[in-house]
Amino acid sequence: MKKRGVGMDRKAEVVAFDATRAESARSRYPNVFPDVAALIAARAPEHPTLCFSPARARASARAFQSGFPGLTTYAVKSNPTPELVRAFAAEGITAFDVASTVEMELVRGVLPTAVLHYNNPIRSDHETDVALKRYAVRHFVVDDREGFERLAAHVDDPAKIEVSVRIRPARNMALHDFRSKFGAEPEDAAPLLSEIDRRGFRTGLTFHPGSQCGDPAAFVALVFDAAGVAREAGVAPTSLNVGGGFPARYRGGDAPELDRYFRDIGDAFARTFDPDKTRLVAEPGRALCAPTMSLLAEVKHRRANGDVFLNDGIYGSLMELSQIPIEPPVLVRRGPHILTGPAAPVRVYGPTCDPLDVLPKPVPLPEDIRPGDRIEFGMMGAYSSATITSFNGYGRIETATVERILGAR
Ligand SMILES: *Cc1c(COP(=O)(O)O)cnc(C)c1O
Repeated sequence: MKKRGVGMDRKAEVVAFDATRAESARSRYPNVFPDVAALIAARAPEHPTLCFSPARARASARAFQSGFPGLTTYAVKSNPTPELVRAFAAEGITAFDVASTVEMELVRGVLPTAVLHYNNPIRSDHETDVALKRYAVRHFVVDDREGFERLAAHVDDPAKIEVSVRIRPARNMALHDFRSKFGAEPEDAAPLLSEIDRRGFRTGLTFHPGSQCGDPAAFVALVFDAAGVAREAGVAPTSLNVGGGFPARYRGGDAPELDRYFRDIGDAFARTFDPDKTRLVAEPGRALCAPTMSLLAEVKHRRANGDVFLNDGIYGSLMELSQIPIEPPVLVRRGPHILTGPAAPVRVYGPTCDPLDVLPKPVPLPEDIRPGDRIEFGMMGAYSSATITSFNGYGRIETATVERILGAR
């Protein structure tokens, strides 16, 4: 971790994020505050601040551990903060979806015994080698014949390695469509699965319905599609991984409760696969980590027309708001006090000189909001710290452990 002096507040934990080096995402969450008001009173953070709630991390992990009728793994991509990985591991999440050797290193650093699922179907030969030899990865995903052959060339003992075929969903039912980049076409999946089986590997089927998937029926349809592939291939796979895509509860969203997803997936799995032969797996990112962090940003300026400028924006931790139509819940404070006056929709800009650095939708904010006030964006644990850039000299982020943070809608 690189640390730069901040001058005014030496106590603050300031991390300079460098988008080209994933290891810079290793932030630290030292000082513990009971709530955001106490954090503001003690620290008056100069930079945008990510507030991590261990209590929320525990609750989030427990919801999956007790509700999902299979193995829950965590998709590290969505938030690679070591403290978060550690909190999930403490609740029994000990298998992780990793997409790069840097993520493998990170997870092994937190939990040396972690099971790693290398579920990025695109790997260089060097990455495959490092995964097999240095990180003892035993689970891989492929979505074409070429990728399978390149993997197989590195494997000495196929019986120890599980290779899953990723299926491309026929339709998109999520806010973030994942179909363009990965997934075998339905007609290619079955021949690939039977070939993997014939070559002595353990087999799996997997899919990702797209992120922030608002309809459990998308998962159900894909479980049935996967069952069709297994049947056509004449293979009972070792695992069925239903991916991530479970929704977080943002403002204005109407996705059903997670329990609906768990029940519907469990029912579909029970009707289509033999649980004695096939293990049900999920790899949520967003739904696990979104509730565990808030973002505290400061109002830098307000124009006469009402427009607000913040010290964080779409090149920082609010990047995802520019990509998919999610709206985090907000709460505004002046010092430690919550502003409760009437709210109106306000145009909100980020700090850089780029005109794209604006939140796509107006945010409902108190009419008297002014410079120095702070906006807490809730449900900001997913795709926030992970994607901060240092564009235009911004991107510095402070971190704090805060037990009580803004909750779901
Ligand atoms: C990103 C990703 C996930 C996590 O997706 P969420 O929508 O955040 O739950 C899971 N699996 C794979 C392969 C991914 O690429």
